Amino acid sequence: MKLDDFPRYRLTFGASPVHHLKRLSQHLGGAQVWAKREDVNSGLAFGGNKVRKLEYIVPDILASGADTIVSIGGYQSNHTRQIAAVAAHLGLKARLVQEKWVPWEDPLNDKVGNILLSRIMGADSRLDDAGFDIGIRDSWKQALQEVEDAGGKPYPVPAGASEHPLGGLGFANWAFEVAEQEKQLGVFFDTIIVCAVTGSTQAGMIAGFAALEELTGVKRRVLGIDASATIDKTRDQVARIARNTAALIELGRDLRDDEIQVLDGWAGDLYGIPVDSTMDAIALGARLEAMITDPVYEGKSLAGLIDLVKSGDIPKDSTVLYAHLGGQPAIDAYQSLWN
Ligand code: PLP
Repeated sequence: MKLDDFPRYRLTFGASPVHHLKRLSQHLGGAQVWAKREDVNSGLAFGGNKVRKLEYIVPDILASGADTIVSIGGYQSNHTRQIAAVAAHLGLKARLVQEKWVPWEDPLNDKVGNILLSRIMGADSRLDDAGFDIGIRDSWKQALQEVEDAGGKPYPVPAGASEHPLGGLGFANWAFEVAEQEKQLGVFFDTIIVCAVTGSTQAGMIAGFAALEELTGVKRRVLGIDASATIDKTRDQVARIARNTAALIELGRDLRDDEIQVLDGWAGDLYGIPVDSTMDAIALGARLEAMITDPVYEGKSLAGLIDLVKSGDIPKDSTVLYAHLGGQPAIDAYQSLWN
């Protein structure tokens, strides 16, 4: 099937906004930097990249007749908050497994931010002490079983909606949305910067831009910035999901290795723990553009962008698109970084 033939259930406002980061570009003194804002893409509990992925999964949820969406993430998972939001929007229940993915001892880390929003939206959110892993977890399988044992009909969505067979479609479509916006704005983005952890955001973009390249012959770079600190797993997952998504939308060729680039160097030692470059990037984005990024994901990908532009690895004559994927609701759970 071609991408347009997959059913899509609209959860976003429409195309997410694209705008020039003039002061940041001027400060960096290199390539022109723009942002596309998934952090303001929807009215559902502050939106984010998962809302876009879920647009292509909701039709399958509804067709399954499920009454409960079961999913998993860290205590401050943006993904599970967006699952809670979409469940509320659809009139379904959400059962969330929240694992201790980050050894962060802020006393309110398991109470405020994303987890608080999920609870306000009525999700059954339960804590589990297991540590970080982007793979399929026993605790999640157990939650599915519990819903069934209680007479419910669960619908499983894995961490980040990434291992879901349709998980890459939302961002494959994002590539086509970018191409439309480029026409309207009279600009061409030769480089895309995107944070990568569970992988289907970047993977979807890679498949989508490859499909666009087949139509137009125009190549561009989609650079993933790892924030998992388990780069080999994330690289494998991005490559696998990109290839699956490309096959799903009938790309008609294999993806080249140069199309799959996940870069190392800004994740620090651990998922969820910011390092100096993260904090500097958060400060720069906030003070020059009032663009708020978080210490888990976007602060790290913004740090990558800043270094790549400053070093000239992204050349001066480039126009770069920074995919802002959301994540701000976690900030309160990290207040001690600034207090
Ligand atoms: N940025 C934010 C704010 C996220 O919530 C996530 C989710 O994991 C990511 C980036 C990474 O996206 P993905 O898991 O699709 O690689």
